[in-house]
Amino acid sequence: MAKLYFNYSTMNAGKSTVLLQASHNYRENNMQTYLLTASVDDRAGAGRIASRIGIGAEADVFRPEDDLHARICARLEQGAVAAIFVDEAQFLTPDQVWQLARVVDDLRIPVLAYGLRVDFQGKLFPGSATLLALADEMREVRTICHCGKKATMVVRQDDQGNVLTEGDQVQIGGNESYVSLCRRHWRAAMGDLPESS
Ligand SMILES: [Zn+2]
Repeated sequence: MAKLYFNYSTMNAGKSTVLLQASHNYRENNMQTYLLTASVDDRAGAGRIASRIGIGAEADVFRPEDDLHARICARLEQGAVAAIFVDEAQFLTPDQVWQLARVVDDLRIPVLAYGLRVDFQGKLFPGSATLLALADEMREVRTICHCGKKATMVVRQDDQGNVLTEGDQVQIGGNESYVSLCRRHWRAAMGDLPESS
């Protein structure tokens, strides 16, 4: 039975690596996969999913106004696919998550979405919130804080290493960087710990 999967993580957990490996496993067995990634993520160049350990694959890009059910139907006219992979799934709109759910239910093709759970202010991305609501299965791609605990949060830093507490959920083209932390160290970085601790 086809399912909608949400593989969620914080920044720099290696979710693109996990996605590319899973897609490779299908292709190694002569099954085609269809890869999608967000147009706002241009780190790897347009239409490419790349991981920090150096592997990558071609992908189609999605934009907020795209109907992904229609896009996938158009792709299927060129040949069958065994699974659909979506990177940067936090940038899906709620409507697009429903479109992917219809692909799973009506076309019976598994959709594996990979994305960030929360932004630098600890708030769910709309795409991730809808995936958390609709996914048949969820898996956490884990990484650790500098203290060794599981990292679930992320801070945004400017190019001087100062933690930014304000700003848009999606920052494009800046020099900011992201560090994944456990919740306690995220609170400390955001200035939310009592004096005594
Ligand atoms: Zn920590």
